[in-house]
Amino acid sequence: VSHEPGALTNWAGTHRFGANRLHAPGSVDEAAEIIGGASRIRVLGSRHSFNDIADSAELISLRGLPEELEIDTAASTVRVASGLSYGVVAARLNGAGLGLHNLGSLPHITVGGACATGTHGSGDRNGVLASAVRGLDLIAADGTMRSVRPGDPRFDGSVIALGALGAVTHLELQVEPAYQVQQSVFEHLPWRVLLDSFDEVTSLAYSVSVLGFWGRPTLDYLWLKRRLDREEPIPLRMLSLDRSPVDSAISRDSVNGNISTLDEVGPWSERMAHFRADRAPSNSGDEIQSEYFVDRADAPDALRAVRELADVIDQMLVMSEIRTMAADELWLSPAYRRDSVGIHFTWLGSAGAEVHALLPRIEEALRPFGARPHWGKAFRMSHDHVRAVTPRLDDFLALRRERDPRDVFRNHYLDRVLLGTSANR
Ligand SMILES: Cc1cc2nc3c(=O)[nH]c(=O)nc-3n(C[C@H](O)[C@H](O)[C@H](O)COP(=O)(O)OP(=O)(O)OC[C@H]3O[C@@H](n4cnc5c(N)ncnc54)[C@H](O)[C@@H]3O)c2cc1C
Repeated sequence: VSHEPGALTNWAGTHRFGANRLHAPGSVDEAAEIIGGASRIRVLGSRHSFNDIADSAELISLRGLPEELEIDTAASTVRVASGLSYGVVAARLNGAGLGLHNLGSLPHITVGGACATGTHGSGDRNGVLASAVRGLDLIAADGTMRSVRPGDPRFDGSVIALGALGAVTHLELQVEPAYQVQQSVFEHLPWRVLLDSFDEVTSLAYSVSVLGFWGRPTLDYLWLKRRLDREEPIPLRMLSLDRSPVDSAISRDSVNGNISTLDEVGPWSERMAHFRADRAPSNSGDEIQSEYFVDRADAPDALRAVRELADVIDQMLVMSEIRTMAADELWLSPAYRRDSVGIHFTWLGSAGAEVHALLPRIEEALRPFGARPHWGKAFRMSHDHVRAVTPRLDDFLALRRERDPRDVFRNHYLDRVLLGTSANR
């Protein structure tokens, strides 16, 4: 499909793609031919990133490839087409009695696009979504197919690769038996309790999220996802919290009732994401998102540092969310070799310019903690800053040169953020 440059935007409308061509092949062979003949091209997932990470002269969507999903029971893996959404994969796996260890807050994103940017859910012992990847097939810059499997020295650099190493056509994901989940939301968690008892709060359930504003004495929501196959009812005696009935604040606050079912026990596939697959997620796209990751040992101090900016942050905020994730070995992972805490901001879409002016202040406040940015969200960190917090950056850049000597998948984002050959806009 050809269109005017700027006619295609990301989901939230915060980035206009400069590309004037979006290819939509129906087979891997067709995709390989397009990529082999392109001088600059990038895969586009479901467009849920908030910056120019996916942009290029030409774009290619792999969502029209056959919707493959093959379960290997002996290996406990599933091989999926990269353009499938997590929502579709989760429903099909659950139907086959299988589960994934976690989901991000929305089920709409593609498996390929989510893994490429290090997308995560929450849980002290849960790695980012890409930590479940056990293999991938990709179309390389010359249009030939490559497979990358654990044991290959390139594997840990190839899973979260920001689309820079090739077009991933299929991923193999670790699966486990399907499980049941109960979500409970409590209101008015005092900031003091979170800061003084951080480990106790985040270990209350399999997946714990804390949501709210920075200048208020209490956080709005403590959102717990309990696995019935592993956990007893949640021991809340230590916290004095208000139990919220299903119809209370969070349902009221949610846009068009888009929150996944609370209280009632149900399958992981319909509870691990915060948002329902059949509604627009979050603030329905009237938003900008940013997120930074710190070592969980530093989380209370890092949160205190952000609270210093509470007045200005809260004016532009839809909601913040604090989540945890387990360390992994993936070179560009937000949780590379450190158990991490994600400090997330959903900003009002209308506050665009002010948000971009504020981000450097938040980044400065988080600098002493070696904060890493979410690759797919809005951030302003300089290349030098990114380099300082990405220990395997040089290994990744060497792998990029080897895999993409023609710079087919190189774009402005890579130049600015990873290569440092152009400045922040
Ligand atoms: C409402 C909302 C909620 C969100 N919640 C979370 C959350 O809970 N946790 C979190 O971590 N993030 C979250 N995000 C961010 C989101 O998960 C990431 O931006 C994710 O990368 C989006 O996936 P996508 O399919 O839209 O990819 P796109 O944004 O389309 O692309 C992202 C990158 O992946 C590359 N890519 C896509 N597909 C492929 C492929 N097959 N092969 C190679 N490269 C590919 C693109 O080139 C691009 O560089 C949220 C975003 C929104 C809008």
